[in-house]
Amino acid sequence: MNESFAHSLTPVIFFGGTVYVNDTLCHADVTVRHGQIVHVGRAKSFRGVRMVDAEGCIICPGWVNAHDHLDLSVYPRLAPNAPYSDGHAWGMDVLGHIANNPKWVALGTIPLERRLAWGVLRNLLHGVTTVSHHNAPPDLATRLKLPIRLHTTRFWVHSVREIRRLHRMAVLAKTLRQPLILHAAEAVSGLATREIAQLFEWGSINDHTILVHAVSASPDELDSIRKKNAALVTCVTSNQLVLGNCADLSAWNGRKIRSGLGTDSPLTAVGGMLDEIQAAVTLGGLSSTDALRWATVGGAQVLRLRVGRLCPGWPADFVVYRARATCAEELVWLRPDQVELVCVRGKPELTIGARKNEMEQLGRTPKSVVVGGNEVWVDSTFADCLGNFNAIHPAGGGTP
Ligand SMILES: [Zn+2]
Repeated sequence: MNESFAHSLTPVIFFGGTVYVNDTLCHADVTVRHGQIVHVGRAKSFRGVRMVDAEGCIICPGWVNAHDHLDLSVYPRLAPNAPYSDGHAWGMDVLGHIANNPKWVALGTIPLERRLAWGVLRNLLHGVTTVSHHNAPPDLATRLKLPIRLHTTRFWVHSVREIRRLHRMAVLAKTLRQPLILHAAEAVSGLATREIAQLFEWGSINDHTILVHAVSASPDELDSIRKKNAALVTCVTSNQLVLGNCADLSAWNGRKIRSGLGTDSPLTAVGGMLDEIQAAVTLGGLSSTDALRWATVGGAQVLRLRVGRLCPGWPADFVVYRARATCAEELVWLRPDQVELVCVRGKPELTIGARKNEMEQLGRTPKSVVVGGNEVWVDSTFADCLGNFNAIHPAGGGTP
C-alpha cells in the first residue's frame, strides 16, 4: 500500500484501548483522519474504516519534550566531578574532558544530520512526539523533515554570561514576538544563583522568555516570572546529576507558571522523557497528574504549540503503550520497552516487531534499527538518516 495514511481520507480507529484524556483513564476508541483526531469515545461505526487493535494498551498524548540538544545525543553521560556549584563549572570541566579524549572528539565529527536524527530517535523511543531543539542550526533541523514535531527558534542563548549575544537576542526576540530560550540559574551556590535577578535588572524577561533550569529561583523571582507570564522548563535528572539538587517544582506549580519538562542532553540526563516524568514526581515534588500535564499541555503552552491533548480537532500525535493502568500514579511508571507505536501527525513513526505489519498497512515502509541490542522499526527514510549508530559508537552514547 503506497497511499499515505496521514493524508488518507479513510478514517483509522484505534479500538479497544484505554485512553488518557483530561487527566483520567477511560475505555475509548480513537478515530484518526487526515492527521487529526476526529473522535474519542465508543466508535459509532466500523464500516469503511481501517482498524488497529489497541486492546490491552494505553493510548497517551505524545509527550512534549520542552528542552533538548538533539545534536549532543551521541555523547554518554559526562560529569566526572559532580556535583558542581553551577552549570558553568560543569561546562568548563566537561569541555576539557572532551577536548582531551580522541574518542569524544571523534563523536563530534559525526555528521550533524546523523546526530540530529539520533536525538530524534531517542525521543521517539520514549513516546515523545514534540521536541524543542535548543542548539543551532534551527533551519537545518527543520529542513531535514525528521519524523517528529520539531520546535526551534533562532533566539537561544547558552549562558547569561554571553552578555552581548543575550542582549541582541532578547531585543530581536521581543521585537519579532519570537521565543527566547536561555539556560539560567542552573546553580545551587555562587554568582550564577543571581542570574534571574540579573535578567530582570536588564529587562530581558517577558512573556516570550523561556528559562531553562531556574534551580535557584527564589520565591520572589518566581512571583516576578509569573507576573511577566514568562515560562520555565525543568530538566530534573540533569540538575540532579550536575548540581545534586533540582528545583522545587511544587513552587512553580503553585504559582501557575507556564512550565514544562525537558530532557536536556544525554551528557547529563538519565534516560529520556519517561525518566523525567518520574523524576518530576519523585524528586521535584509534583503530583503524578501534574507531571503528566507538564509533559503534555504544559510543555505545549511553554512552546505555544497546539499539541498535547487527545481531543477531536487536535493533531493525531499519540503513543500506544502495552500496559494496564487505572490512574495517573501508575502511568508515571511507563517504560520505553512498553512503547508499541508512536504516531506523529497521524503517521506511525516508530513501532515494535509485533506491529510492523500494521505500520505497513498504514502506508509506511518499516525498516529495523537496533538500539542497545533491541530492534525497533521506523520508516525507511528515517532509518537511512540514522545509519548504523551502534557501529559508530558501540558504547551506545545516549542510550535511551
Ligand atoms: Zn540545555
